[in-house]
Amino acid sequence: MKDELIVVAGGGGFIGGHLVGSLLQRGFTRVRSVDIKPFDQWYQTFDQADNRLLDLRQKDACEAACKDAYEVYNLAADMGGMGFIENNKALCMLSVLINTHMLQAAKQAKVERFFYASSACVYNADKQISEDVVALKEEDAYPGMPEDGYGWEKLFSERMCRHFTEDFGLYTRVARFHNVYGPHGTWDGGREKAPAAICRKIITAKSSGKHEIDIWGTGKQTRSFMWIDDCIKGIDLIMHNEVPEPINLGSNELVTINQLVDIVEQIAGITLTRSYQLDAPKGVNGRNSDNTLIKQYLGWEPDTKLCDGMAKTYAWIHEQHAAKHLNQVS
Ligand code: NAD
Repeated sequence: MKDELIVVAGGGGFIGGHLVGSLLQRGFTRVRSVDIKPFDQWYQTFDQADNRLLDLRQKDACEAACKDAYEVYNLAADMGGMGFIENNKALCMLSVLINTHMLQAAKQAKVERFFYASSACVYNADKQISEDVVALKEEDAYPGMPEDGYGWEKLFSERMCRHFTEDFGLYTRVARFHNVYGPHGTWDGGREKAPAAICRKIITAKSSGKHEIDIWGTGKQTRSFMWIDDCIKGIDLIMHNEVPEPINLGSNELVTINQLVDIVEQIAGITLTRSYQLDAPKGVNGRNSDNTLIKQYLGWEPDTKLCDGMAKTYAWIHEQHAAKHLNQVS
């Protein structure tokens, strides 16, 4: 299988870039990485991969991307953190074109396996009202009341995968990612998620000497965050094992946003004055991953400690911040 063609859609993005790197490192000789962004904006590019610029909302682009493919991983989507998805619902929903055309192209190319990156945003909002959250089981996605825009697209696309399997025999796998973090991802510009945003704010506060931080919401919202290497390992395990239904892929180490800030402050060796922006986008009050099913299917769950992963993430964002600052000065 190491010489079969593996396609990663969204390979210029955060998770896609790590997946391409991991496939090459594991000895896959033919990896095609596809993204809409100009190459200089890809988070990681690998010369050994067949790197292509394509707009995967277009059906012919999906056909070109999937041509001769053995396996396809669809990680391409117009997405970002809460600040982006709450204000760009139509753009998020237009990603439905990507997965729909990718499924059609994968069926046409007779690919062996198709992976779809879904999200914890598919879960019913009623189950996420309290900060003192009960971890979300896969069945909690129905009755459907997902995150408006982004979550509806994910739920619909999951369903589309299911019916391509049932009606056309295309072997699909769906993972519901819970907040993934790590280096080589978005850390500024408006699409970043909480872990990267908090690192950037703390680095900025430290370097400017203005020891204050804005926190979106009350800081009491609860979440879990998955280290990128756990995500990549989980994608591989889910793709290559008998996991016939959408499954949680997330950490179950639950923290409040205030606790996440505590962790990063500790890494940075600083304590800041916190100001809470109650009008800012903050998402649901509480969300955690119930990992019963993934442990049943795979005998494994994401288990990297948040403080360990955040230390590496902070170090990488620190470097990016310093390089950007240097560029601005010179
Ligand atoms: P990302 O934004 O870094 O990567 C997505 C990539 O898709 C980007 O590089 C983007 O340019 C590309 N893309 C967008 N529209 C495209 C198009 N029309 N044609 C080709 N490429 C296109 O995001 P990510 O964090 O790497 O997320 C990957 C997948 O995982 C997405 O489907 C996302 O919804 C899902 N997900 C991510 C998280 C997370 O915490 N990062 C959580 C849940 C689900």
